[in-house]
Amino acid sequence: MKCMRISRLVVIAALFAVAVSLVAQAPEGTAKPKPEDTEIWQPIPAVVTPGATFAEAPSDAIVLFDGKNLDEWVSNKDKTPAKWNVANGLMTVSKGEGNIETRRSFKNYQLHLEWKTPESITGSGQARGNSGVFLASTGPGDDGYELQVLDAYQNSTYVNGMGGSIYKQSIPLVNPGRKPGQWQCYDVAWTAPTFNDDGSLKTPAYVTVFYNGVLVQNHFELKGQTLYVGKPFYKAYTTAPIKLQAHGDKSEPLSFRNIWVREIK
Ligand code: MG
Repeated sequence: MKCMRISRLVVIAALFAVAVSLVAQAPEGTAKPKPEDTEIWQPIPAVVTPGATFAEAPSDAIVLFDGKNLDEWVSNKDKTPAKWNVANGLMTVSKGEGNIETRRSFKNYQLHLEWKTPESITGSGQARGNSGVFLASTGPGDDGYELQVLDAYQNSTYVNGMGGSIYKQSIPLVNPGRKPGQWQCYDVAWTAPTFNDDGSLKTPAYVTVFYNGVLVQNHFELKGQTLYVGKPFYKAYTTAPIKLQAHGDKSEPLSFRNIWVREIK
Protein backbone atom coordinates (compact mmCIF):
# COMPACT_ATOMS: atom_id res chain seq x y z
CA MET A 1 0.00 0.00 0.00
CA LYS A 2 2.75 2.33 1.04
CA CYS A 3 4.65 1.30 -2.08
CA MET A 4 1.61 2.15 -4.28
CA ARG A 5 1.35 5.60 -2.75
CA ILE A 6 5.03 6.23 -3.34
CA SER A 7 4.81 5.08 -6.97
CA ARG A 8 1.78 7.34 -7.52
CA LEU A 9 3.82 10.20 -6.07
CA VAL A 10 6.68 9.36 -8.42
CA VAL A 11 4.30 9.43 -11.41
CA ILE A 12 2.86 12.82 -10.34
CA ALA A 13 6.37 14.23 -9.87
CA ALA A 14 7.41 12.93 -13.29
CA LEU A 15 4.34 14.50 -14.94
CA PHE A 16 5.09 17.80 -13.17
CA ALA A 17 8.70 17.70 -14.40
CA VAL A 18 7.51 17.12 -17.99
CA ALA A 19 5.05 20.02 -17.72
CA VAL A 20 7.77 22.35 -16.41
CA SER A 21 10.16 21.36 -19.20
CA LEU A 22 7.42 21.93 -21.82
CA VAL A 23 6.79 25.44 -20.47
CA ALA A 24 10.53 26.13 -20.46
CA GLN A 25 10.73 25.02 -24.11
CA ALA A 26 7.76 27.17 -25.24
CA PRO A 27 8.87 28.98 -28.40
CA GLU A 28 10.02 32.59 -27.94
CA GLY A 29 7.42 35.25 -28.56
CA THR A 30 4.38 33.25 -27.47
CA ALA A 31 4.05 35.25 -24.24
CA LYS A 32 2.69 38.80 -24.67
CA PRO A 33 5.66 41.20 -24.39
CA LYS A 34 5.60 43.66 -21.50
CA PRO A 35 7.40 47.02 -21.05
CA GLU A 36 9.31 45.50 -18.09
CA ASP A 37 10.88 42.85 -20.38
CA THR A 38 13.25 45.47 -21.83
CA GLU A 39 14.03 47.45 -18.66
CA ILE A 40 17.54 47.25 -17.14
CA TRP A 41 18.06 48.53 -13.57
CA GLN A 42 21.72 47.72 -12.79
CA PRO A 43 24.51 48.82 -12.71
CA ILE A 44 23.64 52.47 -11.99
CA PRO A 45 25.94 54.93 -13.86
CA ALA A 46 28.33 56.93 -11.64
CA VAL A 47 27.37 60.51 -10.80
CA VAL A 48 29.66 63.19 -12.31
CA THR A 49 29.48 66.93 -11.57
CA PRO A 50 29.56 68.79 -14.91
CA GLY A 51 31.18 72.13 -15.77
CA ALA A 52 29.07 75.21 -16.31
CA THR A 53 29.40 76.27 -19.94
CA PHE A 54 26.82 76.18 -22.74
CA ALA A 55 27.58 76.28 -26.47
CA GLU A 56 26.34 79.22 -28.50
CA ALA A 57 25.34 78.58 -32.10
CA PRO A 58 28.27 78.67 -34.54
CA SER A 59 27.95 80.66 -37.78
CA ASP A 60 26.81 77.77 -39.98
CA ALA A 61 24.09 76.51 -37.62
CA ILE A 62 20.37 76.54 -38.33
CA VAL A 63 18.84 78.09 -35.23
CA LEU A 64 15.77 76.07 -34.29
CA PHE A 65 14.85 78.11 -31.22
CA ASP A 66 16.37 81.40 -30.11
CA GLY A 67 13.87 82.23 -27.40
CA LYS A 68 11.56 84.32 -29.59
CA ASN A 69 9.13 82.10 -31.51
CA LEU A 70 8.30 78.59 -32.74
CA ASP A 71 8.62 79.42 -36.46
CA GLU A 72 10.86 76.35 -36.99
CA TRP A 73 8.41 73.96 -35.28
CA VAL A 74 5.13 72.29 -36.20
CA SER A 75 2.73 69.93 -34.51
CA ASN A 76 3.76 66.27 -34.93
CA LYS A 77 0.09 65.38 -35.27
CA ASP A 78 -0.97 67.50 -38.23
CA LYS A 79 1.98 69.77 -39.19
CA THR A 80 0.13 72.94 -38.12
CA PRO A 81 2.22 75.62 -36.33
CA ALA A 82 3.50 74.39 -32.96
CA LYS A 83 1.59 75.72 -29.96
CA TRP A 84 3.89 75.17 -26.99
CA ASN A 85 4.26 78.20 -24.71
CA VAL A 86 6.96 80.77 -25.49
CA ALA A 87 7.80 83.34 -22.80
CA ASN A 88 10.88 84.88 -21.22
CA GLY A 89 13.21 83.39 -23.85
CA LEU A 90 12.20 79.78 -23.39
CA MET A 91 9.61 77.35 -24.68
CA THR A 92 7.64 75.18 -22.30
CA VAL A 93 5.98 71.89 -23.15
CA SER A 94 2.22 72.17 -23.51
CA LYS A 95 1.17 68.61 -22.80
CA GLY A 96 -2.29 69.03 -24.27
CA GLU A 97 -0.79 70.09 -27.61
CA GLY A 98 1.25 66.93 -28.00
CA ASN A 99 4.68 66.43 -29.55
CA ILE A 100 6.26 69.04 -31.79
CA GLU A 101 8.84 68.58 -34.53
CA THR A 102 11.06 70.66 -36.76
CA ARG A 103 9.53 72.07 -39.92
CA ARG A 104 12.69 70.98 -41.74
CA SER A 105 13.94 67.43 -42.21
CA PHE A 106 17.49 66.27 -41.62
CA LYS A 107 19.77 63.33 -42.31
CA ASN A 108 23.13 63.52 -40.50
CA TYR A 109 23.65 66.40 -38.10
CA GLN A 110 25.09 67.96 -34.95
CA LEU A 111 22.44 69.16 -32.50
CA HIS A 112 22.61 71.35 -29.40
CA LEU A 113 19.71 71.93 -27.04
CA GLU A 114 19.18 73.07 -23.48
CA TRP A 115 16.41 72.00 -21.13
CA LYS A 116 15.38 72.25 -17.51
CA THR A 117 12.70 70.84 -15.27
CA PRO A 118 10.94 73.13 -12.78
CA GLU A 119 12.74 73.42 -9.43
CA SER A 120 9.59 72.28 -7.66
CA ILE A 121 9.07 69.22 -9.88
CA THR A 122 7.10 66.32 -8.44
CA GLY A 123 6.73 62.69 -9.46
CA SER A 124 9.31 59.93 -9.67
CA GLY A 125 10.91 57.54 -12.12
CA GLN A 126 9.59 57.92 -15.66
CA ALA A 127 6.96 60.37 -14.36
CA ARG A 128 9.46 63.09 -13.36
CA GLY A 129 10.38 65.55 -16.09
CA ASN A 130 9.94 63.09 -18.93
CA SER A 131 10.40 64.47 -22.44
CA GLY A 132 12.62 63.28 -25.24
CA VAL A 133 14.57 64.27 -28.30
CA PHE A 134 13.53 62.03 -31.15
CA LEU A 135 16.58 62.17 -33.38
CA ALA A 136 14.51 61.16 -36.38
CA SER A 137 10.74 61.50 -36.28
CA THR A 138 10.10 59.07 -39.09
CA GLY A 139 6.35 59.18 -39.46
CA PRO A 140 2.95 58.57 -37.96
CA GLY A 141 2.84 55.39 -35.95
CA ASP A 142 6.64 55.11 -35.73
CA ASP A 143 8.41 55.28 -32.39
CA GLY A 144 11.46 56.95 -33.95
CA TYR A 145 14.82 57.19 -32.17
CA GLU A 146 14.67 58.73 -28.70
CA LEU A 147 17.41 60.33 -26.66
CA GLN A 148 15.65 60.36 -23.30
CA VAL A 149 15.06 63.61 -21.46
CA LEU A 150 14.26 62.91 -17.80
CA ASP A 151 15.26 64.26 -14.40
CA ALA A 152 18.40 62.22 -13.69
CA TYR A 153 19.17 63.77 -10.30
CA GLN A 154 18.56 61.22 -7.53
CA ASN A 155 15.68 59.79 -9.55
CA SER A 156 15.56 56.01 -9.62
CA THR A 157 14.32 54.33 -12.78
CA TYR A 158 15.49 51.65 -15.20
CA VAL A 159 18.91 52.87 -16.28
CA ASN A 160 18.33 52.23 -19.97
CA GLY A 161 15.48 54.75 -19.69
CA MET A 162 17.18 57.39 -17.50
CA GLY A 163 18.21 60.88 -18.68
CA GLY A 164 21.02 60.55 -21.23
CA SER A 165 19.99 57.06 -22.32
CA ILE A 166 19.06 55.97 -25.81
CA TYR A 167 15.69 54.74 -24.71
CA LYS A 168 15.77 51.03 -23.86
CA GLN A 169 18.94 50.54 -25.92
CA SER A 170 21.92 52.23 -24.30
CA ILE A 171 22.64 53.18 -20.69
CA PRO A 172 24.58 56.49 -20.33
CA LEU A 173 28.27 55.97 -19.50
CA VAL A 174 27.93 58.25 -16.42
CA ASN A 175 25.28 60.52 -14.90
CA PRO A 176 26.13 64.25 -15.20
CA GLY A 177 22.53 65.31 -14.46
CA ARG A 178 21.93 68.58 -12.65
CA LYS A 179 19.33 69.32 -9.98
CA PRO A 180 15.79 70.29 -11.04
CA GLY A 181 15.55 73.99 -11.86
CA GLN A 182 19.06 74.14 -13.37
CA TRP A 183 19.69 74.35 -17.10
CA GLN A 184 21.15 71.26 -18.73
CA CYS A 185 22.29 70.58 -22.27
CA TYR A 186 22.67 67.85 -24.85
CA ASP A 187 25.14 67.93 -27.71
CA VAL A 188 24.48 65.20 -30.21
CA ALA A 189 26.12 63.82 -33.35
CA TRP A 190 23.57 61.77 -35.30
CA THR A 191 24.51 59.49 -38.16
CA ALA A 192 21.29 58.41 -39.83
CA PRO A 193 20.76 54.80 -40.86
CA THR A 194 20.84 54.05 -44.60
CA PHE A 195 18.69 51.58 -46.48
CA ASN A 196 18.82 49.50 -49.64
CA ASP A 197 16.22 49.99 -52.39
CA ASP A 198 14.16 47.11 -51.00
CA GLY A 199 13.95 48.84 -47.61
CA SER A 200 16.42 46.54 -45.87
CA LEU A 201 19.07 48.07 -43.63
CA LYS A 202 22.35 49.06 -45.33
CA THR A 203 24.13 50.78 -42.43
CA PRO A 204 22.80 51.31 -38.88
CA ALA A 205 22.33 54.62 -37.08
CA TYR A 206 25.07 55.85 -34.74
CA VAL A 207 24.80 58.44 -32.02
CA THR A 208 27.28 60.29 -29.84
CA VAL A 209 25.89 62.36 -26.95
CA PHE A 210 27.47 64.83 -24.54
CA TYR A 211 25.23 65.53 -21.53
CA ASN A 212 26.20 68.78 -19.80
CA GLY A 213 29.48 68.52 -21.72
CA VAL A 214 30.23 64.99 -20.51
CA LEU A 215 30.33 62.03 -22.92
CA VAL A 216 27.43 59.67 -22.18
CA GLN A 217 26.97 57.90 -25.55
CA ASN A 218 30.08 57.11 -27.58
CA HIS A 219 29.27 56.32 -31.22
CA PHE A 220 26.56 53.92 -30.10
CA GLU A 221 25.16 51.70 -32.86
CA LEU A 222 21.37 51.66 -32.63
CA LYS A 223 19.48 48.41 -33.03
CA GLY A 224 16.53 50.19 -34.63
CA GLN A 225 13.77 52.44 -33.39
CA THR A 226 13.51 52.91 -29.62
CA LEU A 227 10.41 51.02 -28.55
CA TYR A 228 8.46 51.20 -25.29
CA VAL A 229 7.48 47.55 -25.72
CA GLY A 230 9.33 44.87 -27.64
CA LYS A 231 12.59 44.55 -29.54
CA PRO A 232 13.87 47.38 -31.76
CA PHE A 233 13.73 47.18 -35.55
CA TYR A 234 14.55 49.48 -38.46
CA LYS A 235 12.13 50.97 -40.95
CA ALA A 236 13.44 52.75 -44.04
CA TYR A 237 13.48 56.55 -44.25
CA THR A 238 15.69 59.15 -45.93
CA THR A 239 15.36 62.40 -44.00
CA ALA A 240 13.19 63.20 -41.00
CA PRO A 241 12.30 66.02 -38.61
CA ILE A 242 13.66 66.18 -35.05
CA LYS A 243 10.83 65.76 -32.55
CA LEU A 244 10.39 66.91 -28.93
CA GLN A 245 8.16 64.85 -26.68
CA ALA A 246 5.15 66.04 -24.70
CA HIS A 247 5.11 63.06 -22.36
CA GLY A 248 1.80 62.16 -20.78
CA ASP A 249 2.98 61.95 -17.17
CA LYS A 250 1.52 64.22 -14.49
CA SER A 251 4.72 66.06 -13.48
CA GLU A 252 5.24 69.75 -14.22
CA PRO A 253 6.35 70.46 -17.84
CA LEU A 254 9.94 71.08 -18.91
CA SER A 255 11.29 74.10 -20.74
CA PHE A 256 13.79 74.33 -23.61
CA ARG A 257 16.06 77.10 -24.92
CA ASN A 258 18.98 77.60 -27.30
CA ILE A 259 18.36 74.86 -29.86
CA TRP A 260 20.47 74.72 -33.01
CA VAL A 261 21.52 72.17 -35.57
CA ARG A 262 24.36 71.83 -38.11
CA GLU A 263 23.78 69.54 -41.04
CA ILE A 264 26.66 67.20 -41.79
CA LYS A 265 26.87 66.94 -45.57
MG1 MG B 1 10.77 60.39 -23.01
